[in-house]
Amino acid sequence: MTLSETDKKWDLIVIGGGITGAGVFREAVRIGLKVLLVEQNDFSWGTSSRSSKMVHGGLRYLKEGRFLLTRTSVHERERLLKESPGLIEPLEILVPVYSDHGPGKQALSLGLSIYGLMAHEKQHTYYEPKAFTAMVPGVKEDKLVGGFSFYDAQVDDARLVLRLINEAVLAGGTALNYTQVREILRDSRGSVYGIHLDDVETGESAEFQTETVINATGSWAEKLHPSPKEGLHLRPLRGSHIILAQEALPLTKAISFIHPEDNRPIFATPWEGGVLIGTTDVDHGRDLSLEPYISDPEFAYLLEGLEAYFPSLSISEDQCLSTLAGVRPVLSEGKLAPSKESRESVVWTDKGLVTVTGGKLTTFRKMAFDTLKAAKPFLPSSINTVVSQAVFTKVPVNLSEDDMVPKEVWRRLYGRYGLVATDIVKDSDAKEWETIPGTNTIWAEIRYAAKHENIRHLSDLLLRRVRIGILTPEGGKMHMDRIEALCRPVLSWDDRKWSHEKTAYEALWKSAHRIPRR
Ligand SMILES: Cc1cc2nc3c(=O)[nH]c(=O)nc-3n(C[C@H](O)[C@H](O)[C@H](O)COP(=O)(O)OP(=O)(O)OC[C@H]3O[C@@H](n4cnc5c(N)ncnc54)[C@H](O)[C@@H]3O)c2cc1C
Repeated sequence: MTLSETDKKWDLIVIGGGITGAGVFREAVRIGLKVLLVEQNDFSWGTSSRSSKMVHGGLRYLKEGRFLLTRTSVHERERLLKESPGLIEPLEILVPVYSDHGPGKQALSLGLSIYGLMAHEKQHTYYEPKAFTAMVPGVKEDKLVGGFSFYDAQVDDARLVLRLINEAVLAGGTALNYTQVREILRDSRGSVYGIHLDDVETGESAEFQTETVINATGSWAEKLHPSPKEGLHLRPLRGSHIILAQEALPLTKAISFIHPEDNRPIFATPWEGGVLIGTTDVDHGRDLSLEPYISDPEFAYLLEGLEAYFPSLSISEDQCLSTLAGVRPVLSEGKLAPSKESRESVVWTDKGLVTVTGGKLTTFRKMAFDTLKAAKPFLPSSINTVVSQAVFTKVPVNLSEDDMVPKEVWRRLYGRYGLVATDIVKDSDAKEWETIPGTNTIWAEIRYAAKHENIRHLSDLLLRRVRIGILTPEGGKMHMDRIEALCRPVLSWDDRKWSHEKTAYEALWKSAHRIPRR
């Protein structure tokens, strides 16, 4: 849909197509508002496709005494696990205990007991060294006294954003990617009456009317709404990951260990067929409009952490599939070390403009409710902002007898795509239900996403609708012919456009997902 085809009058306009904006969009449509969401790049292009992909309480926040944030996040995790099978799945995490460093058995046992209490059940188990090492082949055994296992949850972050946006659109909302807010329009008393939007690619530009604008632009939020609290500002902190091939670190469960350099917890997590290692936490200090990328020292830091805990596996850069960097929207008074900064969210209001930033992927639903509550004075008076429904549309999880699609494929599809999962199955055959080597993605997803999910560029398709751009070597180069055969007919891209897209994608991959040499 172009800007000129888009209605000009809205109850609410949401700026930002990350998890925060997508969450507000979904709930605002649910309560009956006419809502437009705009994203300056692709949906989930910002931090929300570059996280550690955990839906979690955050054991380390507990250690820092942030009980409320941890408890809220644990509650959200439990709720999301129930409401989104196939998208948000349980994740077992192992924590080794060493006699010469890191938290001891008693401290961990206490922390995990409190963590479990927040979920109303004991979710951890202690293992003696032999049983522990059997679960993590190759882990350092020197000074190992045992280890714990406990549960959090895992998600494909970009697909979480997409499912929220797609369901809101199915319920009547409108979402535009590659559409940037140039200006928020205010009358002589300072009240919001609209916004000015630009299509960043076609150059088309138009004004839209609304009395309520939600600024959900994450790390960019202060560009549209400077912090009203003196001394409190967004501090963009970069977190980077390495993605390894499964063969390099054959984990079936996640493991968390303490980095020897700075005692920060690092995770190695099996994810979508690869293994995600992260994260770092450093001041970003780069232009926010550019794709973030891992620095050489961050890359060396993550590999050194792996070498310390998996000395026998000789993990090197040659086994890396890609890297991934994101920028946390963290509210800061500028005094703390990056990892000590709070992950709480804030909501600011200013005469029709409501800004929501900070927070976590995990707490998107709560942030959406807080935002709509703050926006209530500017919304039509008949609107009730209290919602108690499940966040996602319920999908029948059992297939009929005639359906041949394997159970695990069906679970994946209904989790990621909701009700339209049946269309993906109908429009494909058994060959397209096979997974793309090295990933859990099935070929049919590529054609579906290309046809139905607002793809403007090859990078939208390979880096966010599916994640094979970061899960297969060189951004999926070896699969390009089959990708071309699946997506070109439905995208109607001629030879010139395809060649241009491929070149642009390769250049982007080399800058944002490169594998540095040590
Ligand atoms: C390395 C890392 C790991 C993390 N791991 C986890 C985790 O495991 N679990 C967890 O719960 N949380 C995690 N987080 C935190 C979580 O990812 C972020 O809090 C969350 O993604 C922020 O979402 P957002 O929608 O607010 O911002 P974003 O996802 O950045 O979205 C903001 C969007 O606004 C758009 N925008 C900006 N300006 C404009 C404009 N003028 N017009 C239109 N659009 C605009 C941007 O393009 C961007 O896409 C992690 C963060 C990082 C960096």
